[in-house]
Amino acid sequence: MNLSRVAAALAGAGAPSYRLDQIRRAAFSEAASSFEDIAVLPADLRKSLSAGVAFMSHALERLRVSDDGRARKALLKLSDGKVVETVLLRPSVSRWTTCISSQVGCAIGCTFCATGLMGLSRNLTPEEITDQVLFWRQYMRRESLPGRLDNVVYMGMGEPFACYDEVAESLRSLMDQKSFGIGARHISVSTSGLVPGIERFADDFPQVNLALSLHSADDALRTKLVPVNKAYPLARLSKALRDFVAKTNRKVFLEYVLLRGENDCASDAEKLVDFVKASGPVELLHVNLIIFNQTDTPHQATPEENARQFQSRLLSAGIHATVRQNLGRDIQGACGQLIAHG
Ligand code: SAH
Ligand code: SF4
Repeated sequence: MNLSRVAAALAGAGAPSYRLDQIRRAAFSEAASSFEDIAVLPADLRKSLSAGVAFMSHALERLRVSDDGRARKALLKLSDGKVVETVLLRPSVSRWTTCISSQVGCAIGCTFCATGLMGLSRNLTPEEITDQVLFWRQYMRRESLPGRLDNVVYMGMGEPFACYDEVAESLRSLMDQKSFGIGARHISVSTSGLVPGIERFADDFPQVNLALSLHSADDALRTKLVPVNKAYPLARLSKALRDFVAKTNRKVFLEYVLLRGENDCASDAEKLVDFVKASGPVELLHVNLIIFNQTDTPHQATPEENARQFQSRLLSAGIHATVRQNLGRDIQGACGQLIAHG
């Protein structure tokens, strides 16, 4: 929903300004799905708004629910016909989280990621980004799912710092008390390591969580896996992290997808320990080990047992580390599996 377009349509229809507040409340807090849904509006205004302005920037093309019911993935069609995927997760009984996309595709080209394989088509607009959250709130209301959706992670398709301005505007709107009202600490943005973005983010959104997709603490290997490492190698990343935690005093999550025989042996763990220790106080750097979700690439997952061993190596060196639970694999809705093919 684009509120300035709605405001212009209201002005055009000669409606009083409090109508905008009514629409805002109905859309964001009560999860109305259309202007027709907003009973407090007079019928003729509902009709003229429906004819003149789109309530949502995309339409649902396909929805899948995982067997355990804890993950749902929606394929949304944008107004130019392009499609993006967004995921609704239920990590625990009372918690709902959405994983949203910031671009159609991605230009970074990480070798293990399904989105990376498709290349970049375009950035999403701020409205297209936040409408994914609105979509899930509407869905939860329609399906009478209990609880509230107020955790958002920018870990869907795309590199958020490659479209910094659009992402920044979407964050402001998610945090706006008059619209989504989601707390900064309930939002996480994940980057493959675009240093200028990390620097701006520290100044603009010190309360929002930052995740860095590291995947290797060896420059040659990281450049292979995450090609943007060539432009922003580990020494620059490490400095950016030090500056970030010094400025914000916030914990940063380091994402590390374990790839069998590539980045999961004892020496990889040692390099990771050194990198973490050089990048800030260890209590502010948390390593999230991710079990690789199979994509159409030659990579293979590290078996769970070896992942636990890798984790123990980090823990015994005093590094905080967890192994991330994977939801939504059966619907290709887990990390790195989003490719917009339904
Ligand atoms: N572009 C951003 C955010 C989207 S990717 C980034 O790279 O950080 C979200 C997370 O999923 C990243 O940590 C990414 O490295 C990880 N990921 C990508 N492909 C994966 C796969 N096949 N299995 C598990 N995690 C994957
Ligand atoms: Fe892009 Fe992130 Fe996938 Fe890398 S992991 S290709 S940065 S979406």
